[in-house]
Amino acid sequence: MALKYSNKINKIRTVALSLVFVGMIIMYIGLIFKNIEWLMVTLMILGIIAIGLSTAIYFWIGLLSTKAVPIVCPECEKPTKMLGRVDACMHCKQPLTLDRNLEGEEFDEKYNSSKYWKEQEKKSE
Ligand SMILES: [Zn+2]
Repeated sequence: MALKYSNKINKIRTVALSLVFVGMIIMYIGLIFKNIEWLMVTLMILGIIAIGLSTAIYFWIGLLSTKAVPIVCPECEKPTKMLGRVDACMHCKQPLTLDRNLEGEEFDEKYNSSKYWKEQEKKSE
């Protein structure tokens, strides 16, 4: 069974990286339209916003990484970082959990939502 799931930090990093490229492409298109001043200025500003946004995301990854738990993947024995209760290995995409109660459970994104845990708490009361 192929998991659609991938490591959260990797996923965010991919988004940030693609934003840099999107920003550069937008600015490049702006250069093509340098005869139409308003269009060039608009595209340049959009490009700067995209790149600025990716910088912000990179900063955010830095903050997240300090909260991420470094572990050694039991599957491929490489060091990886995980965020939240469940995450996937950065290298082999093996689903990992920090919660012993979830060990052996089918991997589910819902375990990361606090709403799900609140509902579980209500049920056990
Ligand atoms: Zn692994």
